[in-house]
Amino acid sequence: MSSTPISAADIESAIRNVPDFPKPGIQFKDITPVLADARLFSGAIELLTAGVEPGSVDSVVGIDARGFIFAAAAAVRLKAGFVPVRKQGKLPYRTHEQDYALEYGTATVAMHVDALHAGSRVLLVDDLLATGGTAAAAATLVRKLGAEIQEIVFLIELSFLNGREKLNGHPIRSLVTY
Ligand code: AMP
Repeated sequence: MSSTPISAADIESAIRNVPDFPKPGIQFKDITPVLADARLFSGAIELLTAGVEPGSVDSVVGIDARGFIFAAAAAVRLKAGFVPVRKQGKLPYRTHEQDYALEYGTATVAMHVDALHAGSRVLLVDDLLATGGTAAAAATLVRKLGAEIQEIVFLIELSFLNGREKLNGHPIRSLVTY
C-alpha cells in the first residue's frame, strides 16, 4: 500500500457526480466512493482536521446525515466529543430548534439543549456546503448554547451557490470546490 499522503485532488477524483438526483437539475455529489476507500477516507479526515491540534476543540458538531460520518471520525482524531445536529423530530431529549429556508418551504434542525457548554470550543463539520442554509442553522444552534465555533469545515463546497455568505464571520475551509 502506498504511503503517499492523500491530496484534495485524490478525493475530488473519487467523488461521483450523479446527475438529476434526487430531482431533475441537481448534480448530486456522491461521497460514498471516498468512504469505501480506506486511504481516501482516512486522508479526508486528516485533511479536514489539518491545522487543528488534538485537544484544541472540545466538541466536533456534525450535521445530519453524511456530516456525521466525517464529524465522528474527526472527533476521535481530535480527542473531542461528537455532537449531532439532527433533522427535527429525531433527537429523544429536549432540543433547541432552528428553521432555515429551502428552495421551496422550510426545514428545521435540532440539537439537545445540553449538548454543548458555554465557552466550549467547537469544530462544525458537514459533507457539503451548497446554499449554506443548513450550516448556518447549525451554527445558530451552537451559538445559542454559548459555544464558540473555531472553524467550519466541509469536504465539498459548491462555490457558485455562495453559501459562505450565510456563515457570517466564521472561518470556513473546504477541501474540494466546484
Ligand atoms: P445547503 O443548506 O443548501 O448548504 O445544503 C447542504 C446540505 O444538503 C448538505 O448537508 C448536503 O449533504 C446536502 N446537499 C445539497 N446539495 C447537494 C449536492 N449537490 N450533492 C450532495 N449533497 C447535497
